[in-house]
Amino acid sequence: MNCWPVPKSHSRYLPCDGESGSFWEQRQDRFHCGVDIYAPQKSDIISIADGTVVDLGIFTSPSQVRYWNTTYYLVIANNGGTFFRYAELDDVAVEKGTAIQAGDFLGSVGQVLHIKKIDDTCPLYIRQLKEKKHTSMLHIEWHDRPLFPSKTYLGGNWFGTRKPEGLLDPTSLLESISD
Ligand SMILES: [Zn+2]
Repeated sequence: MNCWPVPKSHSRYLPCDGESGSFWEQRQDRFHCGVDIYAPQKSDIISIADGTVVDLGIFTSPSQVRYWNTTYYLVIANNGGTFFRYAELDDVAVEKGTAIQAGDFLGSVGQVLHIKKIDDTCPLYIRQLKEKKHTSMLHIEWHDRPLFPSKTYLGGNWFGTRKPEGLLDPTSLLESISD
């Protein structure tokens, strides 16, 4: 059984083909590694599938990028052998090693963008998110192998033109569980 990860999301439409928040969206100097599901801050996030929490930590912070707030991420090794990274969380409700079933509460949606710090010097896609009031979301990635830190990855974006190995497009999977 698979569950839609943010029951209170603004919609269950999955952005695609370069739309804002879509997988591998080109953002000038970077590419988007996941799919963004917009939702009010503090909305519950639940697990898509059964698995185990294998990693968690800080995802964004104002010390990295001035218009970011502090948010968190966690990685779940799914029993099917793939990995989901749930990111841009306000808080994480589980611990490393916790066994998870689909539908279990994982944490809540964070407010990744610090609206008052977004100005004309910010990347275009950031200014557009502010205009659309899409400043809180679940950023979700899907991988076919364990995740490793990379110098070309920051805050859900890939600063290189070649897609990292093992990064999967979660759009179809999410669409299939959006009912
Ligand atoms: Zn994202």
